[in-house]
Amino acid sequence: MPTFRAPRGTRDLLPGETPAWTRLERLAGDLAARYGYRRIETPMFEGTAVFERGVGEVTDIVEKELFRIAPRTDESEAWALRPEPTAGIVRAYVQHGMHTWPQPVKVYEIGPMFRYDRPQAGRYRQFWQFDIEAIGDPGPAIDAEIVELGSRFYADAGLTGVAVLLNSIGDPACRPAYVKRLTAYFREHDARLPAFERGRLERNVLRLLDSKDPAMAELNAAAPRLTDHLCSACEAHFAAVRAHLDALGVSYRLEPGLVRGLDYYTRTAFEYYVEGREGQQQALGGGGRYDGLVKRLGGRPTPGIGFGIGLDRLVLALGEQGATDATDAVAAPAVVVVGADPDDTVGRLRIATELRATGVAARAELGQRKLGKQLESAAREGAHFAVILGDELAAGDVQLRDLPAGSQKVVPLAELAREVARGHARHRHGIDP
Ligand code: AMP
Repeated sequence: MPTFRAPRGTRDLLPGETPAWTRLERLAGDLAARYGYRRIETPMFEGTAVFERGVGEVTDIVEKELFRIAPRTDESEAWALRPEPTAGIVRAYVQHGMHTWPQPVKVYEIGPMFRYDRPQAGRYRQFWQFDIEAIGDPGPAIDAEIVELGSRFYADAGLTGVAVLLNSIGDPACRPAYVKRLTAYFREHDARLPAFERGRLERNVLRLLDSKDPAMAELNAAAPRLTDHLCSACEAHFAAVRAHLDALGVSYRLEPGLVRGLDYYTRTAFEYYVEGREGQQQALGGGGRYDGLVKRLGGRPTPGIGFGIGLDRLVLALGEQGATDATDAVAAPAVVVVGADPDDTVGRLRIATELRATGVAARAELGQRKLGKQLESAAREGAHFAVILGDELAAGDVQLRDLPAGSQKVVPLAELAREVARGHARHRHGIDP
């Protein structure tokens, strides 16, 4: 057992795993750009109050899972690592006066989030999210556009069988009356509530609806539904979101128990699941509308909607479907620079440096092995060319060996980069040299 290990709930992504991540990050960035979203980067930690106000104090994320940073004696503000990106992005929207920009402000962010969760498969203390936010558009059309964007991301990533779950959780006009009704319902059945749920009853009753406790299943099935108690504005909004999704050909399932864990959501709420896993805890991604959030964080009332898609669970799900990446292969250099004089590391490194400066992937042999060994390892790592420094160097020439073809010729140093680039392009496109 090594003395030092990555902290519990975190993982090292080793070079064999990162190509899958790089591919997803590129895909996410390209897709976001195609839909008109621009990249934003907010800090990985914020003042704790941003999350307490922005996510909500009576949420699992803030109550139990926030990674708080012990305050330094010379700072008055307490910080926490971000558990999700929306609160930070909305804080930035208010701070930079983005309400004066053309609305909606459409941004995306890809990066690590931190939650003090109990680690298990698909649940980590540091995980990655692809996050989309459109701030300043009340919907409903953009709600559908965003749900569709998430579905498209999964499809483009190569994941099949992704189910979209959809609900409306009302707004401050209709939710309070419903919350009262729901509280009364659960109070009536108080004796059947597990202790933990009873504790949440008076503080955040909506969360009882998405409880994973099997004892709650029957109670929840018979509970009054929020979608039966929406005000007419929320009702119309929800109907329009569905109509837009239908028109886009996005299939979805209505899920009255979907309330999302965060306080700030209003109206549209949605989650993505691997088909057949909806009952389990692990959503692939989720999002919703948060029309009250900008104001909560000190801005003027501004609607917004977004999603957070977990990349870790997506990579896991792709692996389960056998859709692992062809790009996982180790990238072989185009050229390895070797030489007859084992001590001439200066000569080898200089030529490799010149090749790299022209854009060629080159490695210099920096050990002091015999030429035969140097060539062997160049072939083993799958290099296309070996540049061999020998006696010809005095005349300004080198030997260029095409390793797979087994052919070799003398090339003036001045033409080396061009020769290599031409030969390597042909090689990559499968044309015989
Ligand atoms: P949430 O805001 O909790 O709905 O999270 C959005 C998405 O982030 C989830 O659907 C997951 O894909 C991912 N996610 C959330 N928490 C974790 C975690 N502890 N480990 C890995 N992924 C997570």
